[in-house]
Amino acid sequence: MDKQRDFVLRTIEERGVKFVRLWFTDVLGTLKSVAIAPAEVEGAFTEGLGIDGSSIEGLSRSSEADVIAKADPSTFQILPWRGEVDPTARMFCDISTPDGQPAAADPRHVLKRTLAKAADRGFSFYTHPECEFYLLKSADVANPQPVDRAGYFDNVPGGTAHDFRRASVRMLEDIGISVEFSHHEAGPGQNEIDLRYADALSTADNIMTFRTVVKEVAQSEGVYATFMPKPFEGQPGSGMHTHLSLFEGERNAFYDASGQYRLSKIGRQFMAGLLHHAPEFTAVTNQYVNSYKRMWSGDEAPSYVSWGHNNRSALVRVPLSKPNKAQSARIEYRGLDSAANPYLAFSVLLAAGLKGIEEGYDLPDEAVDDIWQLTDKERRALGFTPLPASLDRAIGAMEESELVAETLGEQVFSYFLRNKREDWTRYRAQVTRVELESNLLTL
Ligand code: GLN
Ligand code: MG
Ligand code: MG
Ligand code: MG
Repeated sequence: MDKQRDFVLRTIEERGVKFVRLWFTDVLGTLKSVAIAPAEVEGAFTEGLGIDGSSIEGLSRSSEADVIAKADPSTFQILPWRGEVDPTARMFCDISTPDGQPAAADPRHVLKRTLAKAADRGFSFYTHPECEFYLLKSADVANPQPVDRAGYFDNVPGGTAHDFRRASVRMLEDIGISVEFSHHEAGPGQNEIDLRYADALSTADNIMTFRTVVKEVAQSEGVYATFMPKPFEGQPGSGMHTHLSLFEGERNAFYDASGQYRLSKIGRQFMAGLLHHAPEFTAVTNQYVNSYKRMWSGDEAPSYVSWGHNNRSALVRVPLSKPNKAQSARIEYRGLDSAANPYLAFSVLLAAGLKGIEEGYDLPDEAVDDIWQLTDKERRALGFTPLPASLDRAIGAMEESELVAETLGEQVFSYFLRNKREDWTRYRAQVTRVELESNLLTL
């Protein structure tokens, strides 16, 4: 720890860093930043920096407004997009109360606490997200226009998307985030960048950084990036499929050479936990009114609780791991969307999976059909229950969930539900274009 602090202080000196940004995340997954001078950095490690938490979504109640941000030296990076003049660096922070307790509503803490539970059972949790997003010509909310008309894996000669991906991947690598691959996605202007797998805390931090990098690069190329789950009617939404695995020491606990798809019993139970609890944690993995428009419009977004091997309509997919690559055994949760708070989403996924192991849940039968092609009756017979059809339903399921309440902690749980209810109420109050078009003149 002290070595890491020394390294940070030395690097600041050697590189002439002028500003250090302290980063943390609110309950909804918005990145927050406060800049300090290099002279303050030592204090940011020891005493931490006092901030007024009441102005931050869900972070603290107004009666306990002051919180302390303590910088995590292992996350120190120079921000490449700030350039060489007056270099700027960043560190992620852990938030605590003035008496030194972790702040209940710090999403990073929620994840750390859940990871500690996994560690008690001997597991470490690894994730690898596939991040999808749209590039728009401008920030015009009234008339959003994608930057191109290309589709899945298209190579767009001279196109914005190509330059954009190259610039972002380079910047991500500069800031210490390895990219597995990147390509044009199915929608016009839609792109995907996959981050290399890492422990879940690093991946959650990396996703926060990733979103910032993508927005910064977009801006520098004169375009605008959005992680909204479903920006265009009739075009695919932006998911954040996430590959999950548990390790016991150096060994991938999901791998078993003799298991179906080389998935171990622990892997099966973990997956059974995800499926069993998916409806109750979907409000966390899909937190906006708009999330449900992605989930219920086909286009390879999952709508039913199910798992499969090469089945892109399933909620969880098990890729076949290669026998010589035991380390890469994993399952892919396809429900998550690009606007989720990664700390909270990873926490509920992990908690549900651990529950499956703890309780020894049985895995339901594999889905071999295209689930969307079945009738409701067939789906019911096969046990493919629907995921919540709206934010309202998702909130309802979450309210009843002991697992989610326990994982998020009382404060985040109640703040989150309150905030989402407000979203829903505001949405419900609207009279939409569809209603006017179909009813105004006919009724
Ligand atoms: N865009 C799809 C989703 O929302 C995923 C498409 C794909 O990567 N196969 O989940
Ligand atoms: Mg992909
Ligand atoms: Mg994709
Ligand atoms: Mg995928």
